[in-house]
Amino acid sequence: MTYNKKNIEDINVSGKKVLVRCDFNVPLKDGVITSDKRIVEAIPTIKYLLDQGAAVILCSHMGKPKGEVNPKYTLAPVAARLTEILGQEVKLAPDTIGPETKAMAAALECGQALLLENTRFDKREEKNDPEFAKELASMAEIFVNDAFGAAHRAHASTAGAADYLPAVCGYLIQKEIGVMGKALSDPARPFVSILGGAKVSDKIGVINNLIEKVDTLIIGGGMAYTFFAAQGYSVGTSLCEHDKIDLAKEMMAKAEAKGVKFLLPIDNRVGKAYDENTEYMDVDSDNIPDGWMGLDIGANTQKLFAEAIKGAGTVVWNGPMGVSEWTNFAAGTNAVANAVAESGAISIIGGGDSAAAVEKLGYADKMTHISTGGGASLEFLEGLELPGIACLMDKE
Ligand code: ADP
Ligand code: MG
Repeated sequence: MTYNKKNIEDINVSGKKVLVRCDFNVPLKDGVITSDKRIVEAIPTIKYLLDQGAAVILCSHMGKPKGEVNPKYTLAPVAARLTEILGQEVKLAPDTIGPETKAMAAALECGQALLLENTRFDKREEKNDPEFAKELASMAEIFVNDAFGAAHRAHASTAGAADYLPAVCGYLIQKEIGVMGKALSDPARPFVSILGGAKVSDKIGVINNLIEKVDTLIIGGGMAYTFFAAQGYSVGTSLCEHDKIDLAKEMMAKAEAKGVKFLLPIDNRVGKAYDENTEYMDVDSDNIPDGWMGLDIGANTQKLFAEAIKGAGTVVWNGPMGVSEWTNFAAGTNAVANAVAESGAISIIGGGDSAAAVEKLGYADKMTHISTGGGASLEFLEGLELPGIACLMDKE
């Protein structure tokens, strides 16, 4: 899917009321924001609009309040953090589209910003209810979507509002679709994709789409074991989706037919139990003993994968190589992160856990792009249309 959408610079925003959908769904602990990354990522768009003299009405969801008002999911901490970062007061409205909120929006002056309360406090948001979308849109003259992390959802504030207003993307969505779109449509070659994570079933769409485009496909993580089973290896107690073995065979045949180099782990770090401190050892892929489970790729595989990544023009990586949350099983993910960082390739990390692993291991600065959307980046890599982007105006 390649998008050529209008952005905030393609439309006159000065003196206008602009409704901006952001992804302020930040992690909270006891009401305190534990990572403000998503807020920080939204700032360039907000700053640009304020500098242009727009009156900026911000909105977002937070968590899963299931259509009911729940103080646990208030955006109050986000309003406070925005106030600090922008150096100007960002008030929080009492709800999303109520009369008091509308009055606050109407009174908002150019250069000021207002944050609406959690859009998901209203059931109509996730139903993409047209009346709710219309009410939301009625406060503004332009709609800007910059919530990449929610762009795979067709909700009132992510897509519905675009039916009632001229709609463009912000800088974050622009960057996401620009970098990932180029990688998928016109990649610098060789194009290497690394896929891992827990399950084949989560990633079938991604494998299917990428196999059409890449020169090399590397498979690691829990999903490798279904491919092992497809080759007739015994996998012990490793994660294995028996109903996906035929599909794994099909994928391997497809790779071969297309001349795609297809790499699976040659050795594995196996543990006795699914436990952080379990006893472990390294074994070859055709030699996993009964009662042991693969929890990471082995040392020889680290070298094999690193060699395949070296010299890549583009790398798209989704899914850790093992249970990277646990120190004893993080070496494979670490080695691959290092190889990607050293490769000099255009490197794109999609997927929530992969992004978290790369950040935790300290490689974030070395990657070209770490997608801010877990589910959204997966759907993008699958080649699916994202409703929150499809609804925006095309460039002429
Ligand atoms: P992403 O969020 O990047 O798309 P996934 O959600 O698909 O990635 O997969 C991440 C999860 O996969 C992590 O929780 C990790 O512990 C798990 N995982 C990776 N390898 C294994 C394995 N060999 N066995 C069990 N779980 C694994
Ligand atoms: Mg995940």
